[in-house]
Amino acid sequence: MARSLYCLAAAVGHLALTAAVSAAQQPALTIGSATAGPGQTASGFIEVPEGVDRGTRIPITILRGAAPGPTLALIAGTHGSEVAPIIALQRVRTMIDPKELKGTLILVHIANLPSFLGRTIYYSPIDGKNLNRVYPGKRDGTVSERIAYAITTQVIERADYLVDMHAGDGNESLRTYTYWNKLGLDPRADSLGRDMALAWGHDHIVIDTSRPRDPAASVYTQNTAHLRGKPAITTETGYLGIPAEDMIRKNVEGVFRLLRYLKMLPGEVQLVEHPIWIDRTEVLRSSHTGIWYPMVERGHAVQEGTLIGYVTDFFGNKLEEIRAPFGGIVMYVVATPAMSSGEPVAMIGRPQLK
Ligand SMILES: [Zn+2]
Repeated sequence: MARSLYCLAAAVGHLALTAAVSAAQQPALTIGSATAGPGQTASGFIEVPEGVDRGTRIPITILRGAAPGPTLALIAGTHGSEVAPIIALQRVRTMIDPKELKGTLILVHIANLPSFLGRTIYYSPIDGKNLNRVYPGKRDGTVSERIAYAITTQVIERADYLVDMHAGDGNESLRTYTYWNKLGLDPRADSLGRDMALAWGHDHIVIDTSRPRDPAASVYTQNTAHLRGKPAITTETGYLGIPAEDMIRKNVEGVFRLLRYLKMLPGEVQLVEHPIWIDRTEVLRSSHTGIWYPMVERGHAVQEGTLIGYVTDFFGNKLEEIRAPFGGIVMYVVATPAMSSGEPVAMIGRPQLK
């Protein structure tokens, strides 16, 4: 009798313990066709149905931690030829055991599948729009707007933090840097965004104070999250449409540094100690259509007046020289010859002077 009472007590104790464990677990999460229970990884697609033009789908993975915690969304492939982050997320998917994760990681493997498969830069091959200029998107818009709408409503709305992972596009020779949104509307989002930039690890950080303030016309992925109170950064890691191994690794490393900063994985938090804050940037553009000859390389230091490159007509006659408007660093320079009037040739960033 005494023994069976003991057993009963042990059984009740065990039940209570089981209840406590399951209370600490998070419920399953479904996004698109993927459902991940606590401690599980699941992949699937968000369908973007056909509308005024062709539909598409967005490959995603959910890593649902066993224990509750924040939700971090990582978005790659907003521009389809920016590939180092795309390859990096494939590695991240297999490197994290969700049983050891606190909270939830949402991986958007390739936001812009039409651009990736169509090998386009900047613009969708279907509607000619730049996905990173149409947020928060439209349910009944063209395909880029419908992708943005799907990501806003199904990913950003569910996230607490977001990284939009870019690289130099297929034509852009780019040095690594991060954009920090400093809008002055939401001190928490501004300050945690700054910390996220330092946690990611790039030492060149562009302070961007010029992004739109209207959540209904947020334009950029990062800005869409930021204006909804979700701290966010845009990272630039990679160049010229190739998955260079060192750039893939930097993307993976950034993800793990950020997961430790957010306490989603255990480990020492590292923040960049001596960042170079870039407080002025300018995208230089060609005013001619023709052939571009760059005269600088990514990361070069330039002074006001330094020749960045020139544009010729299709026969080789020089049409235009483009020079640095102020001293700074070549954040990226277009390194392939095709040039259309109005398109970027380079971005110059000026380090803060104190
Ligand atoms: Zn991009």
